Amino acid sequence: MEMSTCDVLIVGGGIIGTSIAFELAQRKLSVAVLDRQEFLRESSWAAAGMLSSAPHFPADIPLVPLGRASLTLYPQYVAAIEEASSLRTGYRADGAIETLCHGDAERELSTLVALHHGLGLACEALPLDDALEMEPALGRDVRAAALLPDECTVNTRRLTAALLAAAENSGVTLLPGVEAIALAREGNRCTGVKTSVGKMFSAAHVIFAAGCWTSRIPEVARYAPTDPVRGQMAALVHAGKPIRRVLRSERGYIVPRDFDSPQMLVVGSTLEHVGYETGVTSGGMEKIFSGVNELVPELARAEITETWSGLRPGTPDQLPILGPTDMEGLLLATGHYRNGILLAPITAKLIAEWITERRTSLSWDEFSPMRFARGNADRPAAAS
Ligand SMILES: Cc1cc2nc3c(=O)[nH]c(=O)nc-3n(C[C@H](O)[C@H](O)[C@H](O)COP(=O)(O)OP(=O)(O)OC[C@H]3O[C@@H](n4cnc5c(N)ncnc54)[C@H](O)[C@@H]3O)c2cc1C
Repeated sequence: MEMSTCDVLIVGGGIIGTSIAFELAQRKLSVAVLDRQEFLRESSWAAAGMLSSAPHFPADIPLVPLGRASLTLYPQYVAAIEEASSLRTGYRADGAIETLCHGDAERELSTLVALHHGLGLACEALPLDDALEMEPALGRDVRAAALLPDECTVNTRRLTAALLAAAENSGVTLLPGVEAIALAREGNRCTGVKTSVGKMFSAAHVIFAAGCWTSRIPEVARYAPTDPVRGQMAALVHAGKPIRRVLRSERGYIVPRDFDSPQMLVVGSTLEHVGYETGVTSGGMEKIFSGVNELVPELARAEITETWSGLRPGTPDQLPILGPTDMEGLLLATGHYRNGILLAPITAKLIAEWITERRTSLSWDEFSPMRFARGNADRPAAAS
């Protein structure tokens, strides 16, 4: 069988795999990335591009330090990508406004502010008049609002195109149309992968970053029981009062993509457990539009220019799966669920540190793939 060798082989060319490849190439390692199709066309392409380290569910709380570290890295991450690609990423640091439109909004606002402060995140209660002055398009049903001044956004379509060019210009070998179908092993050492094109790829380190599909690879599934969680999205052209910041409520979000007039906005989303089904449904769109039209009623007149969906890599505990396994040479970087765009820089940094220095600058033990492998020890690998 024909064989190709490099220092690091990455399976999956989404934002996670490609960011790791770019980081390792900058550290002068030889890196190849396989993707079964075109690069950066799955979840990473579909994402809204909010960079928010705020927890949206209690399960997100362990992620806050990782999210904050990644948000801090973002300016240098985008600068390196923009320099290596000569392309722009649409990164903006304009903040976000979280709104409450139902129930006991004042009490919920105090809880929200206290939760953020307890986690070291900036968050200010906004008098409604101030919120309306900052964002005149907000609807009159908003009962309470908070400013999250540190939140940022990125244009995911631009970022993914720039990242791909940056990786290629830095010497990463990009192999689209090559699917990994099994591990290659020598005893307890992972030496590479067997692929759909009949060629074997070998490397000192093999990193699986195959998004929600990671669990489909026999022997990898036991470390990464990922599950697809569909999210639907729409793009709108908005000719009303311009929106400067991300606007969120418990029912949906609005992310400005530019500040032109008319303005391009993206709105979302849904959280659906429908397997690998990637359609856009009327029920999904109804949920999104009822939420965002409540937030900004003028959007009922905005033109819908595009709809799409993507599959987030979910995990049983909603936390990412990062780091080495008990199989020598095999690492995981997946399960970033709703936060993969935010977490790409810190993921790339930690994986690169571990590969080059065998240590990480931030503890990642609670995201270890071994938390699942231990629990699955009695099951046959391919069936888990
Ligand atoms: C609607 C929506 C909105 C989102 N909004 C945000 C947001 O605002 N902020 C945020 O931080 N995150 C957001 N996310 C989450 C974010 O998009 C994901 O966490 C992130 O893109 C995951 O990146 P990934 O590289 O792991 O996976 P993917 O981008 O899915 O990439 C995985 C890649 O692996 C390839 N692959 C799979 N199996 C194989 C194989 N056997 N061999 C070779 N290649 C293989 C696939 O073809 C694919 O290219 C959103 C997601 C969705 C769907």
